Amino acid sequence: PTAEDRAPAQVRERHAELSAELDDHSYRYYMGKPVISDAEYDTLMRELEGIEERHPSLVTRDSPTQKVGAPISVDFAPIEHLERMQSLDNAFSAEEFEAWVQRVESEAPIDAYLCELKIDGLAVDLVYENGRLVRAATRGDGRVGEDITLNLRTIEDIPVDLDQSARAAPELLEVRGEVFLPGEAFEELNARLADEGKTPFANPRNGAAGSLRQKDPRITATRPLSMLVHGVGAHTGVEFTHQSHVYGLLREWGLPVSDRYRVLTTRQEVADYIDYYTEHRHEPPYEIDGVVIKVDDVSLQRRLGSTSRAPRWAIAYKYPPEEVTTRLADIRVNV
Ligand code: NAD
Repeated sequence: PTAEDRAPAQVRERHAELSAELDDHSYRYYMGKPVISDAEYDTLMRELEGIEERHPSLVTRDSPTQKVGAPISVDFAPIEHLERMQSLDNAFSAEEFEAWVQRVESEAPIDAYLCELKIDGLAVDLVYENGRLVRAATRGDGRVGEDITLNLRTIEDIPVDLDQSARAAPELLEVRGEVFLPGEAFEELNARLADEGKTPFANPRNGAAGSLRQKDPRITATRPLSMLVHGVGAHTGVEFTHQSHVYGLLREWGLPVSDRYRVLTTRQEVADYIDYYTEHRHEPPYEIDGVVIKVDDVSLQRRLGSTSRAPRWAIAYKYPPEEVTTRLADIRVNV
């Protein structure tokens, strides 16, 4: 029998159905118009992962479990990223998080974790050549994104020219981060849209996606978008030893780095960081959907490597959804 024969027809049908559904939701989500909540999406994804764990023959390269994002729309020119943009693996409980820690610590001598907030925004990629912003793109499917250079240039947080007063910028630097609408800015924008008789956005994330993916950058310029950076892709003319070293240099060059990240050395400290933001989830002036824990040492990051979808050296600890029903109702009336 072929590998496919091992999964019963009923299971294969459910697998195909879930895959199609997830692809469809993914596309809508990246267009800024989801029709289900993130928690519902995550539940469907977990079901698919469960099926694939029991029937590995069903894992194909284009399964939603193996892919990043969604194909890009035809509204923007395609841009191939210099280095692939990935997603993150998730932990939904303390047990899942502990299992991840044990796995990485069994493979590499980890001495510090960098803990930071998982901003619920839009992943973007900025390319700087000799200190000048030359291109900006959405994540797209991780390999090819949408050219949003003109739109990105309207965001005040993002320097067009890096600050080179303390240190020269490298020849090439690909910077990754999150574009978002801070809470207050979101409320103001929605009030303005309502005044103008336009449909308000269901939540800050959709507002950020809708504002960034405008065909006319003059509209994006009127939207109070912010950005925080949290990583690098391709680079030449600079070497990084630690994730925290990356952030130090990005900050020196004038890029917006969060001041809420911490480099922590014990599991207890990491657990305390996760707990703190579980309790103080609304303290940051933007929406977060969890925290991200990264191995700080870049050589250990390399040793741990990545899957087709996500690095093995980082994990998103996702917080449980709040008021799912209210948010769902919001989403349904607003799309
Ligand atoms: P993700 O949102 O779970 O995590 C990966 C992304 O987190 C990265 O690409 C990065 O841009 C971002 N991020 C934010 N802060 C970060 C930080 N400090 N460090 C590193 N990265 C950080 O994964 P995803 O692939 O973007 O999207 C999948 C998730 O999106 C799902 O789990 C679901 O919650 C949601 N989703 C919802 C729907 C829907 O219909 N509601 C559809 C598709 C996806």
